[in-house]
Amino acid sequence: MTTTTVFADLVKHVGGDRVNVTSLVPKGGEVHTFEPRPSDLTALERAKVVFMNGVGLDDWMTRMLQQTATNAPVLRLGENLPGVTYITGDEGPNPHLWLNVAYARKYVGRIADALSAAEPAAASVFAANAKAYDAQLATLDGWVRDRIGTIPADQRRLVSFHDAFPYYAQAYGLTIVGVVVPAPGQDPSAGQIAALVKAIRDAHVKAVFSEVQFSPQLAQAVAREAGAAVVSDLYDDTVGDPPVDTYEGIIRWDTDKVVAALAPA
Ligand SMILES: [Zn+2]
Repeated sequence: MTTTTVFADLVKHVGGDRVNVTSLVPKGGEVHTFEPRPSDLTALERAKVVFMNGVGLDDWMTRMLQQTATNAPVLRLGENLPGVTYITGDEGPNPHLWLNVAYARKYVGRIADALSAAEPAAASVFAANAKAYDAQLATLDGWVRDRIGTIPADQRRLVSFHDAFPYYAQAYGLTIVGVVVPAPGQDPSAGQIAALVKAIRDAHVKAVFSEVQFSPQLAQAVAREAGAAVVSDLYDDTVGDPPVDTYEGIIRWDTDKVVAALAPA
């Protein structure tokens, strides 16, 4: 069991047909403010391994685990990752590490270790799957870097709806000028919106991005006020329908959207 559909896709790539993976937050759902139902608790009790992100993304899973008698190992994929410098904001360390593909590869390594510990008889299958998927992600990482590199350096600035892209931006050479909401579920004050509009104008940011699991209206209003374009279908915390039904799919989709919006036509 995973908390999100993105982690479910990573687990599927490593586990192949040796695992059944269920995400508690459904496709298109919002992980930060998710409220589990009683039936989710029953499903959790059947899980053999639990994968969550930690770092404050899915704390509700910790509360659920306290309510069950499960002995299943719990992997916090994003916590204490070696070689990672955590980016900290007003809300604490940012949890969205997987949007840097190099960090997603670290998640994959952890998933392979956890599945092998849970099912030693299939360890060689998991290791082979993880190795092949890791190579695929290494290629993806280079592809993103090349694509973002086609945006003129002084145009590599963006605003997103919630603060999901600092690791992506850091990895691929973009600057996050601001975010529309301080955290999911928290509306910005009039003063915060005015400051963001000014920051967008001052930095000549061409586009405000919003993510599919949120209503686009606030991002649209900010973009209109600031004279920027709005792109309201980025993916970060959830997958969608093909071609964005996988982790690789969402990274390619987002990167194409960012390049299309920020590079000159
Ligand atoms: Zn998020």
